Amino acid sequence: MSAPNNAYDPVEVEALKPESVARMREEALAAIAAAADLEQLREARTAHAGDRSPLALANREIGALPPHAKADAGKRVGAARGAVNKALAARQAELQAEHEARILVEETVDVTLPWDRRPQGARHPLTTLSELIADTFVAMGYEVAEGPEAEAEWFNFDALNFLPDHPARSLQDTFFVQGPDGEEESGIVLRTHTSPVQARSLLTRELPVYVVCPGRTYRTDELDATHTPVFGQIEGLAVDRGLTMADLKGTLDHFATAMFGEGIVTRLRPHYFPFTEPSAELDLQCFVCRGASVGNPDRPCRTCSSEGWIEWGGCGMVHPNVLTACGVDPTEYSGFAFGMGLERTLMFRDDVRDMRDMVEGDVRFTLPFGMEI
Ligand SMILES: [Zn+2]
Repeated sequence: MSAPNNAYDPVEVEALKPESVARMREEALAAIAAAADLEQLREARTAHAGDRSPLALANREIGALPPHAKADAGKRVGAARGAVNKALAARQAELQAEHEARILVEETVDVTLPWDRRPQGARHPLTTLSELIADTFVAMGYEVAEGPEAEAEWFNFDALNFLPDHPARSLQDTFFVQGPDGEEESGIVLRTHTSPVQARSLLTRELPVYVVCPGRTYRTDELDATHTPVFGQIEGLAVDRGLTMADLKGTLDHFATAMFGEGIVTRLRPHYFPFTEPSAELDLQCFVCRGASVGNPDRPCRTCSSEGWIEWGGCGMVHPNVLTACGVDPTEYSGFAFGMGLERTLMFRDDVRDMRDMVEGDVRFTLPFGMEI
């Protein structure tokens, strides 16, 4: 039998026995290691490191020990509490990092997800091209002028020196508009070109006049790959003192470069228009074969039909009769004018093969052109 419990013997204080302290320490470390999240770790902290935990209670017993036993027991309990606190801090850091990593994953925003279900549209390339051309001329000091699409026959033909029997006035070429009472001869046509805006500009502006006129025009053509009854034109007119063909050629060369890039070659080929004298057709050197297909059956060119040149538009010096009709003295002023088809320009510039694509409104056609301004 052992002696009665001696309060001064640390061995006899149950909680301070080395095996008891070791057990408390193991239990605490096991609970900490088993904590699966921050909440469970908080519970383990209260149970094993809190004020009422076994190690804290054992610590209180030390005070009752005789001085010679305090150091030994204190070292043992202190080491156990230190190990528990260290394990708590390590596990806390671990679980905190896991928690934050999980939040990063759970709250991730996928910026590649589509944010809007409506498909993006695109401007029609003819609109874009028309604005690009207008900008090119505005940069040279021109104004943009517009006129009505249902035009007085006088502006569309007479003012532009078309004689009364000119074939363009026939029903085969021109849409005539019936009057409000159904009369055939209303004197109104759907304009067959943008040239009437020339006459309107000269009658309403002070000289000198530099205008560019983009707009829709109408002719009685059937819709096919290279024709359409409604088509866009861009018209230019300059009336000033001392203008010559050289000014016209220089302006057109600059325009061609703006449309098709550096190195484009142009030529003027004599032609006839009622409203210009002299008149010319403006050709571009074929930018596919650069003329190499001419007389060379081994290298045929579809773009220029092996002719080496592509017709782009018409031009010339404004006919004195047109200037006179618009109240301008042809002995004092001269001018030049030019006009080209927008669709044709788009076909050359962007390799559009079929004019019908431009009028059918299929978004698959317009989308690749995007929002180019
Ligand atoms: Zn060619």
